[in-house]
Amino acid sequence: PFEVLVIGGGPAGAAASVYTARKGFSTGIAAERFGGQVLDTMGIENFISVPYTEGPKLAAQLEAHVGEYDIDVMNLQTAKQLIPARQPGGMHEVVFENGASLKARSIILSTGARWRNLGVPGEFEYRNRGVAYCPHCDGPLFKGKRVAVIGGGNSGVEAAIDLANIVGHVTLVEFDSKLRADQVLQDKLRSLANVDILVSAQTTEITGDGERVNGLVYKNRESGEEKTVELEGVFVQIGLVPNTEWLKESGLELSKFGEIMIDEKAATNLPGIFAAGDCTTVPYKQIIIAMGEGSKAALSAFDYLIRTQPA
Ligand code: FAD
Repeated sequence: PFEVLVIGGGPAGAAASVYTARKGFSTGIAAERFGGQVLDTMGIENFISVPYTEGPKLAAQLEAHVGEYDIDVMNLQTAKQLIPARQPGGMHEVVFENGASLKARSIILSTGARWRNLGVPGEFEYRNRGVAYCPHCDGPLFKGKRVAVIGGGNSGVEAAIDLANIVGHVTLVEFDSKLRADQVLQDKLRSLANVDILVSAQTTEITGDGERVNGLVYKNRESGEEKTVELEGVFVQIGLVPNTEWLKESGLELSKFGEIMIDEKAATNLPGIFAAGDCTTVPYKQIIIAMGEGSKAALSAFDYLIRTQPA
């Protein structure tokens, strides 16, 4: 058994494990894919103090930093069940897909999230070559250019407002007959001169020249007509899904979006179980925030372990 078991090896989990190991706790970290979403990222320009890096490089540095400590790294391990301790100070248990199970007095959940894909031709092929998911991350790469935002919920409309300030022109594409974002956001969006809004528009393809995105094809769901918009970038904003499906039966409190509910100390509703990063209710999903949250969860686990008698 470990004193602290971290589930998830992205920025949040890596930070958490380094912090608990530095407190002298026996620490294990189990991850389906060490590195997490960072592995799918190309240029990273907002990891403060590092003006430019690339996803695979940052993932290797996370692994190297974890490797500096006596941390038991278990890569390619998918957790499928959490069995919380029956009393405070007791052992929690995590069961993995391969049948193995691990126990620890404190658990830090950092299983991250995944962007919902459109699932149209061109989306995968041009990922990081015009197809983007994070306006905070990639907006400045499209300075002065034409982009589309797919999705008319709050995140899509916020992204369109954000991008309109940076890029040349934004086309917001919504599948439904009306936008679903809060009225105040819709009003703001409609006040912007360089934004077009398309509703009842089903994106059917993202096109490119073999190198980069050059357009988007959509079908007007009322007339059935197909149209093309010429542009250089497409931001897909149809939802960020937390990797928490496996926790639904555990007694852990989740939000209506499936995010793990945490307080300002990264504590969940279950004593000794903490959570950090994109899988939680923390606002804004970013690398630097996930690392801060992972560190915070680790310090809270430390606090819990020194105050709680082993049961
Ligand atoms: P993740 O990175 O999602 O890591 C989750 C970890 O949990 C992984 O190791 C995963 O394999 C593991 N896991 C999941 N389920 C299980 C399970 N059941 N059992 C065991 N392990 C599991 N942010 C920025 O700040 N700047 C950027 O430029 C930027 N660009 C991005 C570009 C792209 C294409 C994407 C997808 C994201 C980008 N982000 C960027 C967002 C950033 O990557 C995330 O906010 C950050 O990685 C979240 O860290 P995390 O540790 O919470 O989760």
